[in-house]
Amino acid sequence: MSGTVSAQEIAERLLRADRILILTHEKPDGDAFGSALGFQSFLRSCGRNADALFPAALPRRFSGFASDFLTTLTPAEIRAAYDLVLLLDCANPARIGAGAEFNPAFLSTFEFLNVDHHQGNCIEGAFNLVDPSAAAASQLAAEIALASGREIRQEAATFWLFGIVTDTGSFRFSNTDGRAMRIAAELLDRGADLERIVNAVYFSKPRNQQEFEADLLQNHVRSAFGGKFVYARLPDELFRRHGFDMRDGEGIIDLLREIDGSVIAALIYSWNGVQKVSLRSKDAAYPVGPLARSLGGGGHAMAAGITLESDPEQVERLLLEQVGTLLKKQMN
Ligand code: AMP
Ligand code: MN
Ligand code: MN
Repeated sequence: MSGTVSAQEIAERLLRADRILILTHEKPDGDAFGSALGFQSFLRSCGRNADALFPAALPRRFSGFASDFLTTLTPAEIRAAYDLVLLLDCANPARIGAGAEFNPAFLSTFEFLNVDHHQGNCIEGAFNLVDPSAAAASQLAAEIALASGREIRQEAATFWLFGIVTDTGSFRFSNTDGRAMRIAAELLDRGADLERIVNAVYFSKPRNQQEFEADLLQNHVRSAFGGKFVYARLPDELFRRHGFDMRDGEGIIDLLREIDGSVIAALIYSWNGVQKVSLRSKDAAYPVGPLARSLGGGGHAMAAGITLESDPEQVERLLLEQVGTLLKKQMN
């Protein structure tokens, strides 16, 4: 990728800019949310004008955490108000969470920085820091802030730790390494509020979500290949019955990953009129990232996703075929 730069250089460019717009991927997860709001907080504390934009509703569990962000902005307003666009945790132009007009061509009319940790990031910013060995975009964000030598205050530290905690599943997933833990420690040393993060992420499940999960486990789990592939197709009716929405679904796939003997877990559900597949692997010998990429999706080796314009039955058949091939390839 051209225009690849260091954390130090990203820091210098951010601190030289005056009016900064922060964007991330659609359907923001904890890392998208944390990396963007952490930068908003950090850059403001450095005297910059910085605003994070989340155009669609955020997960319910994030709502107690922050309300100070933009929810609408037209391209004309952006042009009038900002010089630099910082895109975080987003690997693919189609997933920039701000609407079709926010394509790389438009964003390239600004000083456009792309900071991400997804393998295969295909966004060409003017300046790119894409590091797939980083556990979270929030980790890269904290590294950029540390490289700047500026003070990281408690609020930014908490947002960035939020992203690291959610993208590592609280330091359980295989992206957890010494570097992720050292950055988490740096953030804790600056007052990051782990208790508040853990309460929001793990100990605030509403009753309807518990009922949704129970229904899913009771009625929708399927398995194949001797239990190595565990998956669930989630009909719209299941979401309606429990008033639950996959915007709040980060972690739902772990219900399948938890099952003893499962190696690959998948969820299939409708999202905005298309089929969305979430994939997780528990064994590096069977990575799901390449499988997702071969079907037009993306993500990380052990956690990936695909969007398909197809019907759920066809998606299920396709996955059975692809996962079967992956499991067999390694067994031979
Ligand atoms: P999810 O299963 O939605 O939590 O996504 C897991 C990982 O795969 C995340 O890092 C996403 O950024 C990535 N991902 C999910 N869906 C897609 C997609 N349709 N295209 C590219 N990457 C995706
Ligand atoms: Mn993300
Ligand atoms: Mn991430």
